[in-house]
Amino acid sequence: MDRPDIETYIEGVLKRDRRRIAKAITLIESTLPAHQEMSREILDRLIPYTGKAIRLGVTGLPGAGKSTFIENFGTLLTEKGYRVAVLTVDPSSPKTGGSILADKTRMEKLATNDRAFIRPSPSGGTLGGVARKTRETLFLCEAAGFDVVIVETVGVGQSEVTVASMVDFFLVLMIAGAGDELQGIKKGVLELADAIAVNKADGDNVERTLMARRQYEVAFHLLNPASRSWTPPVLACSALTGDGLGKIWDVVCDHRDIMTASGEFEKKRREQALDWMWFLVREGLADWFFGREAIVRLVPEMVRAIETGTMTPTSAASRMLAFLKNNPS
Ligand code: GDP
Repeated sequence: MDRPDIETYIEGVLKRDRRRIAKAITLIESTLPAHQEMSREILDRLIPYTGKAIRLGVTGLPGAGKSTFIENFGTLLTEKGYRVAVLTVDPSSPKTGGSILADKTRMEKLATNDRAFIRPSPSGGTLGGVARKTRETLFLCEAAGFDVVIVETVGVGQSEVTVASMVDFFLVLMIAGAGDELQGIKKGVLELADAIAVNKADGDNVERTLMARRQYEVAFHLLNPASRSWTPPVLACSALTGDGLGKIWDVVCDHRDIMTASGEFEKKRREQALDWMWFLVREGLADWFFGREAIVRLVPEMVRAIETGTMTPTSAASRMLAFLKNNPS
């Protein structure tokens, strides 16, 4: 059986060996403690080789055209000579337990492109768990020399905030709807966007798309810009015909140049790294806390007390946290 050691993984990733890259990602995704230990060491050793890619987040509601966009945009980038990795953050739907993105065959052209690498979201798990693995996979792809890493997420729930926190540029795909364009779009998403692209600007949809574009522009003007040097543009494109995709890439590059010159690029990456550290500390604390035997025993008792109204949530929480004070080490 093929059981490579850490050196083999590191060498394989740096040599851009696709099989080893895929296996290293499988290690990252594994829940076995021994695998987690190994992947931590691999990532630590690869850190000096990371940081050079453009990290691009893409979101949009189901049907907005994300997979069509990534397929053709990714292909365009490979034609420009770039190597492109595509990752997804797709936590299981809390309602159905199934994933939202992975059900259909997606990006067939890109999947067979030598310069591209597509890795679907690790299956199952919470958003935090999926995001953690995707973030580590992003670093691994950078070490493997990918020039652009696209992280796709579906535009529902909290996953957009999570993806925005791991990328340099966050692109929101929209489509022109009937009537009020701002219906169904969360203000929070606009605040995360570094650009909006109104997709499906083709055929007899062009006019409607341009109207929608103007409405989004107005909406943007009502927001306080997140950056002093960047005003998010609203673009129109057709993922299907490829119209406007080149312009979107130009915007991504302009953004990188402008933000680098103002120092905001590095600042954002530093802040993201710090946020990530605190996230891991909080997650580790929670794992540790809920793994204590006394807490495991206390939890059902406290839940019952709340459900039967014999205790207030505040006192139940205090009682559980008192465990920490009494068992500091
Ligand atoms: P996703 O759910 O966001 O990944 O959306 P898909 O990429 O699967 O696209 C949903 C549907 O819209 C598919 O039938 C696509 O062929 C279609 N579509 C995507 N982009 C465009 C576009 O630019 N123009 C037109 N006319 N249709 C598009």
